[in-house]
Amino acid sequence: MIRHTLELRPLDWEIHRLTRMEVRLQYEDAAASDSHTVPTVEEMLGIHSTDKDLRFLRKKALEKVSDLLYRKKTGRAGEEMVAQTLQEIILPDNSYILRNVSITIRHGYRIEIDAMILSPAFALILEVKNIAGTLFFKEEEGKTIRVQNDGQTDEFDCHIHQLDRQLNGLMQYFHARGIRLPVYGAVVLANQNTRIKQRPNLHPVIYRKQLARFYRSLTESAPVLPAGKTGRLAEILTSRELQADEEPLCLQLEYPFEILRKGVLCLECNQKCEAIRGAGWRCPNCKKPGREAVRQGVEDLLILGENQITNALARDFLEIRSNSMMSILLSELDLLRTGKPPATSYRRKHAGPIRFKEDITSR
Ligand SMILES: [Zn+2]
Repeated sequence: MIRHTLELRPLDWEIHRLTRMEVRLQYEDAAASDSHTVPTVEEMLGIHSTDKDLRFLRKKALEKVSDLLYRKKTGRAGEEMVAQTLQEIILPDNSYILRNVSITIRHGYRIEIDAMILSPAFALILEVKNIAGTLFFKEEEGKTIRVQNDGQTDEFDCHIHQLDRQLNGLMQYFHARGIRLPVYGAVVLANQNTRIKQRPNLHPVIYRKQLARFYRSLTESAPVLPAGKTGRLAEILTSRELQADEEPLCLQLEYPFEILRKGVLCLECNQKCEAIRGAGWRCPNCKKPGREAVRQGVEDLLILGENQITNALARDFLEIRSNSMMSILLSELDLLRTGKPPATSYRRKHAGPIRFKEDITSR
């Protein structure tokens, strides 16, 4: 029996971006916070200082980012549990478990699939949900409602509609390529304690532990694809790169990037690192050298703040005074450079982390 697991983890990248943003929003600057309790003249006149506005926005942004991060991590944990269960299912030869599949159906129509099983006889899409509480699937209203044990009610975009959109997308994708593979789907609840009060009609909702049985119920059908072609298709479906043109998080969430904390921040304790003359960077707390912290600083600016940066912008963000030092740093990183000095600008060459050129091993 051949078992393949082709994995790409864009969710991990999402978690990385949100984690970096959370770090840059956890702002404890004694000079900036609560510097006065007596209202200033501006405040009495109703004119807020920029500083105060930024502090307010920062607080809002931190709440939002922490909430998003929590949800992504919960989702990630659910996917892990389902992946574990999938490993226990005995798949026929030439079947593949694909995770985090992202397919552009056509311009402006993109689908993201948490997990799917691709076999020579069918494709099965699994929309994984890790939600505690009681679920009501309100298909007509396009909502899934969750009631928690303490009575708190939350609304989600309808899980069934999400799955339906993926099913339609994949069918269109196959149809356009002359692939006659049947496509099935199910919402999979990772959490065994989730209760379902109102079931949907359109697509099945199953618990993780029912996956094996559900899968067996589909295996009657005859193979459609030749063995080699299934493997090729699995490769194509997972071969996409993370998008290099993704918007920086501040732009995506519509916050000015000025809310981000500046400086080179220690990767261990998030404190500001100090520049040691002729000896690079060091955290005053951990005493560790900060070469990686400087790299992360430039990456933070590009994944959170601005698509395109200049030497001056990077100096301001990392609080590095020397123009030439910044020039050297930027030239050592694997970035796309355009324009001639002093108008040189830099952007990301590809998706994922930005690395030092010397750390990139040639493949
Ligand atoms: Zn430190």
